[in-house]
Amino acid sequence: MNTLCVTRAIKVLKYLHRTVPENVPRSSLLALGKLPPRVLSTLHAGGDLRSVIDDPELRKWLAANPVPVPKASVPDPLFHGSLVFVRITYNRPSQPPFSINAADVQTALNYASLAGGPIQRYASQYGPNSVAVSSNILAFNVDLQGNNFADDDVQGWVDRIVDNNHLTNACIVILHDALAANSPVNTDASGNVGGYHLCTDNGHPYCFCNVFGQNLTVADTNNRYAEILSHEIAEMTVDPKGDVNNPEVCDGCAGNCNNDQFDLFDSNGTFIGGTNTPSTASGFTFFINSIIRPDAYDPNTECAVAGSDLQAVCIYAPPVAWNEQGDLTTVNNIVSLAGHFSTGDQRHLVVVGTTQGKIHEIFWKPAQQGIEGQDDLPVGFGAGLIVSIATMYNSDQQRHVVVVGKTDGKVHEIFWKPETVGIEGHDDLPVAFTPGSIVAVSGLYNSDEQRYVVLVGTTAGKVHEIFWKDTTVGVKGHDDLPVPFAPGSIVGVTGFYNSDQRRYVVVVGTRAGKLHEIFWKDDTIGVEGHDDLPVSFGSDSIAALSGFYDQGKQRHVVIVGTKDGRVHQVYWKATTVGIEANSTVTQFSAHSIVSLAGFYSASDQIEHIVVGLANGLLRELWVKQDV
Ligand SMILES: [Zn+2]
Repeated sequence: MNTLCVTRAIKVLKYLHRTVPENVPRSSLLALGKLPPRVLSTLHAGGDLRSVIDDPELRKWLAANPVPVPKASVPDPLFHGSLVFVRITYNRPSQPPFSINAADVQTALNYASLAGGPIQRYASQYGPNSVAVSSNILAFNVDLQGNNFADDDVQGWVDRIVDNNHLTNACIVILHDALAANSPVNTDASGNVGGYHLCTDNGHPYCFCNVFGQNLTVADTNNRYAEILSHEIAEMTVDPKGDVNNPEVCDGCAGNCNNDQFDLFDSNGTFIGGTNTPSTASGFTFFINSIIRPDAYDPNTECAVAGSDLQAVCIYAPPVAWNEQGDLTTVNNIVSLAGHFSTGDQRHLVVVGTTQGKIHEIFWKPAQQGIEGQDDLPVGFGAGLIVSIATMYNSDQQRHVVVVGKTDGKVHEIFWKPETVGIEGHDDLPVAFTPGSIVAVSGLYNSDEQRYVVLVGTTAGKVHEIFWKDTTVGVKGHDDLPVPFAPGSIVGVTGFYNSDQRRYVVVVGTRAGKLHEIFWKDDTIGVEGHDDLPVSFGSDSIAALSGFYDQGKQRHVVIVGTKDGRVHQVYWKATTVGIEANSTVTQFSAHSIVSLAGFYSASDQIEHIVVGLANGLLRELWVKQDV
């Protein structure tokens, strides 16, 4: 069975009914409704309108007013709410009432409860979202005059269901037995149409999903409902408004684009690979229709970009989902924060630079609720002097090193050991920058060479490297990296050490909203390579940047805070072509992210993000397993 999702086709049709002016005869619009879904859904692509539209008035209007092109970047909020399954009973004259088997709706609900997790994570590539499943199946009766109904009827039912049950943030899910001999027909979703998702004029999203069989199972090896249901849930999650702007994120991995792809999951919800024929796959508990990678989505065809690896752009592990730990503490007037895990005393350490010129230290142990202690370091700077702060942990000497970039062009080093009362020492590094030129500092410790490396990004568009060892008097050397950026373009710098590859990795965030990766080894002359990562957050969007190396997963992780309040994760392995994932981890209110610290604690293999917010709250997120 090769089914189509007709969401986009119906969306375009409804859009045209709303927007085409009165002088175009309505009969021409009705004729449009008879076009194949594929043609309708890509009317925006232009092409030869003459071959598909007879009415010259309509052709002229369409040529001048093309249907908006859907965008891979989704400006409107994604779905945050619950799926509510409704079992409809259809009453018709002279026929017994008809409804889908109750047991089959329950099976589909159980399926959706499993599939919702991975779908939420795949959809997080397009923006923050949440997908819960209500355990309560609602009953609803409708009266039909004959055997047919249309989407306009369905919209009315959805509004009544929401009102009758006082539902909020709900998406109504209607399963329709499309094969039973006495089943009524949705004329907007008949034949080989699998289903669609839309939103009523009152703003209530819904999914209408045909089911092609009975006695359903969660595994649905014969694909009687799971492809269509997961497809519509995923697309609704990314596009709950169902307007013409947002992408249909499954069509590129479905029958619409002749590219049926499915992700397989075990009973723990762990991704175990993919297939294009679930009936021949084994070892899975459930599957979902794949969700296309945002960078592979072609708005003009709504399929994968021409030349893509059609399997790779659909089948991949869902992005990591982070746990929200909650607030650590409040530090007023945050300018910058940084952190690391110290193996010597098994503590997480986060330091916060404030506008008053203080360096505030916070520490806690693994599995601890809240924090263990906090204090200001006994080193103060003038008010407004701190620009950026970085930390390094010397795992050989068990020494904490904090580096402070200041408005006077100086970089100050502070160091101490866990058992030190107060600090061991502090001093300006003997490298001066033009006052006002320091934008960001970052630091890393190379345990193979016992080397500290500090990176300073400047308004001149340079990334300056300063390095030394514990035994060095002063610094051993310093130089600009041979990768220039345009003056004023650097907004953030983060550096970390890949201890498996013995490689330095520096990521520079730019005003254009890009991340530029630079990497080299200790014995490299210059750098090994540098390139933009295949991500873009939009012009002037990056508010904060932090990165680390996860030795457990051998993964480079960069955390980006954007001005719209979102926290994004980007991660990749040394061997990855491009990146593994780019997704939204969580969202705060707009303009609330001041700074963030990402770090890895090797002893419990946990990745951490600490976000410093404008209201002074320090919020922690963490993740251990990929699932
Ligand atoms: Zn679709």
